[in-house]
Amino acid sequence: MRTRVLLNFVLAVTAVIMFGCEKKEAGAAEKPEVKEKKKMSITKESFGQTPDKQTVVLYTLTNPNGIKAKITNYGAILVSLETPDRNGNFGDIILGFDTLDGYLKEHPYFGVIVGRYANRIGAAKFKLKDVEYKLAANNGANHLHGGIKGFDKVVWNVEDVKAADDMATVKLSYLSKDGEEGYPGSLNCSVIYTLTKDNELRIDYEAKTDKTTVVNMTNHAYWNLAGQGNGDILGHELMLNADKYTPVDEGLIPTGEIKEVKDSPMDFTKSMTIGSRISQVTGGYDHNYVLNSGGGKLALAAKVYEPTTGRVMEVTTTEPGIQLYSGNFLDGSITGKSGKVYKKHYAFCLETQHFPDSPNKPQFPSVVLKPGEKYQTVTVHKFSTK
Ligand code: BGC
Repeated sequence: MRTRVLLNFVLAVTAVIMFGCEKKEAGAAEKPEVKEKKKMSITKESFGQTPDKQTVVLYTLTNPNGIKAKITNYGAILVSLETPDRNGNFGDIILGFDTLDGYLKEHPYFGVIVGRYANRIGAAKFKLKDVEYKLAANNGANHLHGGIKGFDKVVWNVEDVKAADDMATVKLSYLSKDGEEGYPGSLNCSVIYTLTKDNELRIDYEAKTDKTTVVNMTNHAYWNLAGQGNGDILGHELMLNADKYTPVDEGLIPTGEIKEVKDSPMDFTKSMTIGSRISQVTGGYDHNYVLNSGGGKLALAAKVYEPTTGRVMEVTTTEPGIQLYSGNFLDGSITGKSGKVYKKHYAFCLETQHFPDSPNKPQFPSVVLKPGEKYQTVTVHKFSTK
């Protein structure tokens, strides 16, 4: 008798649980609770042809929050980057051109990948094991940004394009031949642009050589967090995680000294507007900062805040240096995207790098790459608002 009561009780409880479950499931079917997740996407379109008839393409990477990065295989250029301001209005925050034609003409390295050697090499020459290598003198007597036809003016191969759940990636590669622009060794390099669901644009650089050479690649985006063409960047607040910098001579070649920024207009260890002391710096900022991280591991290099839009950009890098360039040579002679005229200080660059003229400065971190070694650096730009 007791057993029967217990059995009935157990059956009743089981029925309630099952009914409850069924009810829940039926309800769930009417009103699905699982929302469809927005995904990363990549689209591809034609960006035209070079004068020697090479096909150029443009990829648009979009993340679930609507951030869009456009990348072309001509010069491995970052053509545009749209991010929201604090009110959710999207704007393109880098300078450049709407069409390939703009990039085919002479321009100051808008958004390009610079190589084989970013920034300057003094007197356009250097020695490796007592052998002197002469490079093109394309900046007075000095060599700038890889020479006459650097990595910014070649068509890169598209190696891989993929969108996963949390990131979208475009991998571009370029084989720089032995002797190209005067550099020794065939250099097999690649650049991987990755847009993440966490609002980061990550750039991975890799290279291998068949002869001892020098390498220093960077991206040369011109940023204006108020939107490209929307005035100067003097009101942007900048923090650089660097207690020291490398002073330069009149030709912008480092003197070899590593100097403290303390008590000088070079000091951005605490956030300051770019314009607050720029008049005390001859020509404006165009200097390499020595990052406190020392390089080698991914660490915070810079943080920029634009007060009118609330946009924030944080730069982390494995590089030991960063070039702060305040768009000093922009002079209104270039009309860029959407007919915007780019005047003096209408953008700043933060080029993560090894120090300029390192091949001639043994006291600077080495830029030498030997056969069997792998050149590998990473820079991440993270976007937010406040
Ligand atoms: C250099 C500037 C140069 C600019 C555009 C920067 O990396 O430091 O001196 O004018 O690139 O070429």
